[in-house]
Amino acid sequence: MADTKYVFSFGAGEADGNASMKNTLGGKGANLAEMTNIGLPVPAGFTINTEVCIHYSDNDGAYPAGVKEQVEEAIKKVEKVMGAEFGSDTNPLLLSCRSGARESMPGMMDTVLNIGLNETSVAGLAKQSGNERFAWDSYRRFIQMYGGVVLDMKPKSKTDPDFFEEILEHVKEEAGIEFDKDLTVEQLKDIVSQFKAVIKKNTGVDFPTDPMEQLWGCIGAVFGSWTNDRAVVYRRQYHIPHNWGTATNVQAMVFGNLGDDCATGVGLTRNCSDGTPGFCGDYLINAQGEDVVAGIRTPKRIEESLSDDMPEAYEQLDQIGKTLEQHYKEVQDIEFTIQRGKVWMLQTRNAKRTGFAAVRIAVDLVNEGLIDPKTALEKRRIPADDLNQLLQPIFDPAAKEAAVKEGQMIAKGINAGPGAATGQIVFHASDAEATWNADNDAQLILVRRETSPEDLRGMKVAKGILTAFGGASSHAALVSRQMGKTCVCGCAALSINYEAGTVTVGDTVLKEGDWISIDGFTGEVFTGKIETSASEVMDVLMGNKKPEESETYGRYAQLMQWADEHRRLKVRANAEAHDAEAAVALGAEGVGLCRTEHMFFDHLDEIREMIFSSNKEDRERSLAKLLPFQRDDFTHLMRTMGERPVTIRLLDPPLHEFLSEEHLHADETLAPKLAKAFNVSEEEVHRRVEELAETNPMLGHRGCRLGIVYPEITAMQTRAIFEAACALKQEGINVHPEVMIPLAGFKTEFDNQAKVVRETAAKVFEEQGVEVEYMVGTMVEVPRAALTADEIAETAEFFSFGTNDLTQTTLGMSRDDYKGFIGEYLENDIIPADPFQTVDQSGVGKLMKIGVEGGRGTRSDLKIGICGEHGGDPKSVFFCNRIGLDYVSCSPRRIPIARLAAAQDAVEG
Ligand code: PEP
Ligand code: MG
Repeated sequence: MADTKYVFSFGAGEADGNASMKNTLGGKGANLAEMTNIGLPVPAGFTINTEVCIHYSDNDGAYPAGVKEQVEEAIKKVEKVMGAEFGSDTNPLLLSCRSGARESMPGMMDTVLNIGLNETSVAGLAKQSGNERFAWDSYRRFIQMYGGVVLDMKPKSKTDPDFFEEILEHVKEEAGIEFDKDLTVEQLKDIVSQFKAVIKKNTGVDFPTDPMEQLWGCIGAVFGSWTNDRAVVYRRQYHIPHNWGTATNVQAMVFGNLGDDCATGVGLTRNCSDGTPGFCGDYLINAQGEDVVAGIRTPKRIEESLSDDMPEAYEQLDQIGKTLEQHYKEVQDIEFTIQRGKVWMLQTRNAKRTGFAAVRIAVDLVNEGLIDPKTALEKRRIPADDLNQLLQPIFDPAAKEAAVKEGQMIAKGINAGPGAATGQIVFHASDAEATWNADNDAQLILVRRETSPEDLRGMKVAKGILTAFGGASSHAALVSRQMGKTCVCGCAALSINYEAGTVTVGDTVLKEGDWISIDGFTGEVFTGKIETSASEVMDVLMGNKKPEESETYGRYAQLMQWADEHRRLKVRANAEAHDAEAAVALGAEGVGLCRTEHMFFDHLDEIREMIFSSNKEDRERSLAKLLPFQRDDFTHLMRTMGERPVTIRLLDPPLHEFLSEEHLHADETLAPKLAKAFNVSEEEVHRRVEELAETNPMLGHRGCRLGIVYPEITAMQTRAIFEAACALKQEGINVHPEVMIPLAGFKTEFDNQAKVVRETAAKVFEEQGVEVEYMVGTMVEVPRAALTADEIAETAEFFSFGTNDLTQTTLGMSRDDYKGFIGEYLENDIIPADPFQTVDQSGVGKLMKIGVEGGRGTRSDLKIGICGEHGGDPKSVFFCNRIGLDYVSCSPRRIPIARLAAAQDAVEG
């Protein structure tokens, strides 16, 4: 295929490529072409495409036929534009060689500068530039980079020698010089000859003098760097496919190190930490690109001093920044060189930014007329998850960086509840509560092996929750998210000793009361305090601050308005009474899941009596005690939600979550209390409690199986729902309860429970003399329910995918115990993402599609939602939008994220 085009030239206002060709030219190559096309000053060059990289990797470093000829042809074009000759002794053209993949992989691959220098062309360069020192400095830089990158002489570990730096340091030391820039020509010549000698000694070959040989060495090294360790690990982390390959960009050198009218720098067309408009960045006078990155000299700030140091260059740069934003409609991250007062562009790309900056920049660009609101919503502009940064406390970035530098980071777990929290360690919920009662300002982090319903009170008062076990849908994770607490769970490195009151990680032993900090965005755990700042947006939403007092809130509200105008998918909250207000403030259009068992957490004595009952009569007596609590809770919840639909799920968890030997052990008053209440011996209490234990509780007596065996529980809960609903209706609030049956896999299971619900509702309506519109539906959380959705939809009036359990039952992977292997699975690309965080689309997702098709085949207007933890995960929200769900339901803090994600899929999907 000699005709295939592999090499794409650019220079003098004309380019073979453009910005749309990222897949073949890589981001850097495509944008160099684009900048050339729009008339910006770009040194001439060419891009060898990504196809060549793949061929190179697959064929042991061989190039496809035709590449060599096309490169030679392209060099001629560069020579013509630059008026210099590659390899010339009198008028040498020097080249740079840089990687550039479809998505930027900063610092992961290689670069070589000043290619084409040898003993004769260095003299030519000295003469041509009138600067001998510059020529020899360029030569020593070239050999150093070539030696490191092409000849693989870079140190790979701390103990490896850095041959070149050692020579450089030695010469400087002998000469009593501190900075490279003060080396004389003679000293540089000495360094060059020592570099060559060390190369010969290490590789057995002479440093190549032929410029073409040098260039091919560099091109090969750049292509080869696609498969180096760092690049492979980076791709895995950021889900970049290994078969994309990198392009190689060869470009005429321009020099920022010719003198004090030269500089090199990197910049942003606006601040990407907080989004403030205006050019900013770093530059170094009389330096070459790698000096900025290497941190040998401290760069100056463009926004502070470039206009004084080089007024004309600053003007050019400012104008270029504006042109770039006008053209790309996006904030740009650029690299440039100033050679004798003229600015040259070496790179531009869409800038990475914090969530904070992302919102500000998107909204500002709309207000500046550069983009429309629909464009502002694009996924790549504001990754929906990044909205968290506006809603949660975050670590002060400088304080966190300092903590990392100080070695305070001791472990990493699952980033289960976003936010940043710093506080004193407390191991028991009761201690947390007592401390907080004594001092409402106490900052506490509840550290547990895992959490259970008993810990709820402690979780409420803690700033954050840290557990050693459990995954993304463990109790700790889902309760934290619902409460909007920062949570890191499944942090296997923690060894917690409750008796000793210590948590140990390696050599670090922390005691109760010691300060600890957790980052719920990344899963990182730190010793000590790290400063955090509160969310202004939440302050306004919860009425603690006026909207006009916060510009950040103003922009958030603007963005949310656009999102709401563009989405189809509705967003509900997983909420109980106490989080309903926050849910409404964050934009919930209903409740998609009220976990009724969460309402029992404050009435453990009564629920335990109900569980302990061995006959219907006893059970009904204790249920009667629970009824008023449930009714009050439902009243509060439905009153807060007003006319919005409220899905209330009947009791779901295995009962021994509330009453087990462990509970009896942890609370010595419990067994005597039950013995007294039921007039039995304590031995009898232990015996009955033991009977409750199950080997595999997640697949045991739970969900609708509870209601089927104990219909009086279903009846009590239904009565509480409808007594509350009728009372509210009488007050004039037109409530919409939806009663949801958990874990049904058979239509008969659903029908059994629906009958109890409908009969009880009818009784309550008769008693109250008022009727309320309601629906009875089911969760789809076992594969059988999805597979027989057509049958179940004959009687079920709505479906809600419980993807926590559906993932668990489809994958046969325990949602509480997958920590032990999930890390390895992700590390080795066995699965692309944590399936309890992001819907496994080809497995669980397929069942969801079957469920939707089956259900709607029977009942075309079947309302379908999702209420598993996935309902707040952007990728899963996109998927739910695409398969036609009516709503997603998620914890209150994730509602804005789900609203934005739903809009993003609607505008881009
Ligand atoms: C689910 O299984 O997805 C669900 C929402 O129910 P729970 O997490 O309460 O089991
Ligand atoms: Mg479930």
